Amino acid sequence: MLIVMTATATDAEVADVVRAINALGFRAHPMPGATRTAIGITENAGAVDPAHFANMPGVAEAIPVSKPYKLITLDLRPERTVIKIGDATIGDDGLAIIAGPCAIESREQAFAIAESVHRSGARFFRGGAFKPRSSPYAFAGLGEEALKIMAEIRDRFDLKIVTEALDEAGLELVERYADMIQIGARNMQNFSLLRRVGRSRLPVFLKRGMAATLEEWLLAAEYVMAEGNYQIVLCERGVRTFAQHTRNTLDLAAVPAVRRISHLPVIVDASHGTGKNYMVTPLARAGVAVGADGLMIEVHNQPAHALSDGGQALELDEYEQMVREVRAIHDVIA
Ligand code: PEP
Ligand code: MN
Repeated sequence: MLIVMTATATDAEVADVVRAINALGFRAHPMPGATRTAIGITENAGAVDPAHFANMPGVAEAIPVSKPYKLITLDLRPERTVIKIGDATIGDDGLAIIAGPCAIESREQAFAIAESVHRSGARFFRGGAFKPRSSPYAFAGLGEEALKIMAEIRDRFDLKIVTEALDEAGLELVERYADMIQIGARNMQNFSLLRRVGRSRLPVFLKRGMAATLEEWLLAAEYVMAEGNYQIVLCERGVRTFAQHTRNTLDLAAVPAVRRISHLPVIVDASHGTGKNYMVTPLARAGVAVGADGLMIEVHNQPAHALSDGGQALELDEYEQMVREVRAIHDVIA
């Protein structure tokens, strides 16, 4: 059930509806919009009777929800969600660039890359502190030491920090140091972790699982929203297919497909989406052309010596050139 308030409904009328929802033992999710407030209802076991609300002052409509989603949809919130971290934004008219190494390997490496990211005009720095690796013997990240390095980078370069939490224990550390929590492809259906980030004060950067349908991905976002965290950025990072010329098949059609259903911003990760250095810039250009709110890009000062994902990292000058190109495309389509 979704309650749409009239354009003239007062705050007190919205509060009355919220109270009525809570009194039934359900959870209310009020979403103020430009023209009206809508209130999503969750935690109801069966269908909710619209008669409870239909005659309350300020209520325009009580609409049963037939889709699998309640909160991520444009029905609840027709305006696009804009994530604001200080003065850095994702989802407005700008193009958000989230760039940095796959993993933080040393202070020197991270600072060399951050300097270039800052110079490019990007506002977000990414770097793995806890790395999910296919092999148990591969470099798994520097942990808290990496988080401390990124916190220094935030202060030095005024960049917002995006980093992955692999599990609930690591999440507490990530919350202490970062500005946005990345949930990786391998954890997109880790439902207890999704619920936990749903109770975080930080925005969530939710990568699509490598075998996830659009519906499963959006339902993962729904898990986070249902816990009360509405600050979510979706990230298309490629899915596994029979193609062997790329690491993953970057599903650029996911961008307009998400847009048709959801108010949440969508980012394209052209690095994991291709796995190959020479494909990153062309696919980044395409991601912007198809309407993404921004890009996630892996950059390294010495890709040949990178401890993870070196093959897909852009060199610093390649990265800075890529940013110029995608900004030009964004200016044309804006
Ligand atoms: C990453 O961003 O470095 C990463 C591990 O991404 P994904 O979860 O998309 O594989
Ligand atoms: Mn990586």
